[in-house]
Amino acid sequence: GGPDDEKASLGLSDSLRRMGIALKRFKTGTPPRLDKDSIDFSAGEIQLGGSLRFGFSFTTKEFVPVEKQLPCYLIYTTPKTLDIIRSHLQDSAVLNGVIQGIGPRYCPSIESKVVRFADKSRHQLFLEPEFENGNSIDLQGFSTGMPHQIQKEMVHSLPGLGKAKILKYAYQIEYDAIATPQFDQTLRVKRYQGLYVAGQICGTSGYEEAAGLGLMAGINASRSILGLPSFTLKRNESYIGVMIDDLVTKGTDEPYRLLSSRAEYRLLLRHDNADARLTGYGHEIGLIDEKRYREFLEKYQRIQEAISVLSSHNVTDKASLADYMKQMGDEPSLEGKKGIEVLKRPRYSYRRIAAMMDSMAGYRDMDDESVLALETIVRYSGYIKKEELEASSFAKAEAMVLPSDFDYLNCDGLRLEARQKLQAVMPSNIGQASRIPGVNPADVSILILTLKKEKKL
Ligand SMILES: Cc1cc2nc3c(=O)[nH]c(=O)nc-3n(C[C@H](O)[C@H](O)[C@H](O)COP(=O)(O)OP(=O)(O)OC[C@H]3O[C@@H](n4cnc5c(N)ncnc54)[C@H](O)[C@@H]3O)c2cc1C
Repeated sequence: GGPDDEKASLGLSDSLRRMGIALKRFKTGTPPRLDKDSIDFSAGEIQLGGSLRFGFSFTTKEFVPVEKQLPCYLIYTTPKTLDIIRSHLQDSAVLNGVIQGIGPRYCPSIESKVVRFADKSRHQLFLEPEFENGNSIDLQGFSTGMPHQIQKEMVHSLPGLGKAKILKYAYQIEYDAIATPQFDQTLRVKRYQGLYVAGQICGTSGYEEAAGLGLMAGINASRSILGLPSFTLKRNESYIGVMIDDLVTKGTDEPYRLLSSRAEYRLLLRHDNADARLTGYGHEIGLIDEKRYREFLEKYQRIQEAISVLSSHNVTDKASLADYMKQMGDEPSLEGKKGIEVLKRPRYSYRRIAAMMDSMAGYRDMDDESVLALETIVRYSGYIKKEELEASSFAKAEAMVLPSDFDYLNCDGLRLEARQKLQAVMPSNIGQASRIPGVNPADVSILILTLKKEKKL
């Protein structure tokens, strides 16, 4: 069956296969859900939510205070839990071969963790409320392919869960995904003009991954119908760009999760500057309205103005600055201190410094998001500039657009492996070509020379 007792969509994969699209098999799982009233939470360590006022979207302006958020609880497996798991490994559908799909590396089943990390004496688990209103508690970290009776024993061996009532047992799902590289950077299936794909059928696992791909596939499908040029994002401007480039260029042999470690320009792809990176595009393609765009421009104009005042004016309230520096464990050295010099020091707060400068009176009411953006720009400007420089050579290679009909297989001078890999991916530019596994820098140089000679680059 499908997740949450839904029916499996059995016919879809066969239709795709009939269309000549090759598929691969992945799997993912979910932990048991427990009845809140049957748990002794005092056996766990309380984990409160965050107090930072940052939303998933810049349009979110209201935040639930920590005291109104539902807490999670941290517990650990006991020696008894591990004994039960070890003595039933052959019963687990994940390990005994019943489930053949490849699972996500970063969310393995509890029995896979016990086998893979055999030297660990315990594993951490979180008791996490599934809904704001409701009794269901998610036992995070405890996904399993064990039969129900054994799951029950495993759950009852955990601290605070001796009498836990299981509302829903853990289960595993196998699913089909399109083997890469059969779709391009616009998420269009290469051999079909109007077919765009998004979500886990692209080989990903995760809500955010599915949402990001869905947005891009939707944009490109509608632009294609309207006869407009396609829209793509690059690795140095968004995580969506990193994800799609990884999927299209490198492919994936396991459910792909978009981890920040996959991005090489992490200092540029920050949460605080997501609007600076993407609002312009959104406005250009008609997804951001004038009001929101104007507010965005005003926000960054104010940030730039505030930075310029901080750079050109000294801190006026020297007594408060001396106290602040002492409090921060620094030697007060007050002569001619510009606001920006103080703010560049680690952990110094924009709000505190702005309050000590008469010239900053007009910039003290900035919201938390703007303050974070400003502090990040000021504090990390050296590192950010360095990464921008690196990204500009990346951008140059991305701007060298490759012909979409080039016959790589018959490109003399290229090694056979490089020809085959390039032909399979059909990269859109030199940057992408150089990231294809099996294509080395010498191949890229030969490709550039050949295309220049043929006046195709
Ligand atoms: C058990 C389990 C636990 C997971 N836990 C997490 C988690 O904790 N965190 C996380 O980030 N991700 C989790 N994931 C992964 C995440 O749920 C998926 O990667 C994501 O939902 C995929 O989104 P999607 O839109 O591609 O597919 P889906 O969400 O599966 O949506 C596909 C939709 O298409 C419909 N459909 C299918 N066939 C047809 C048809 N022929 N005609 C019309 N409609 C059809 C289906 O009914 C379904 O509604 C989990 C997945 C599973 C299976």
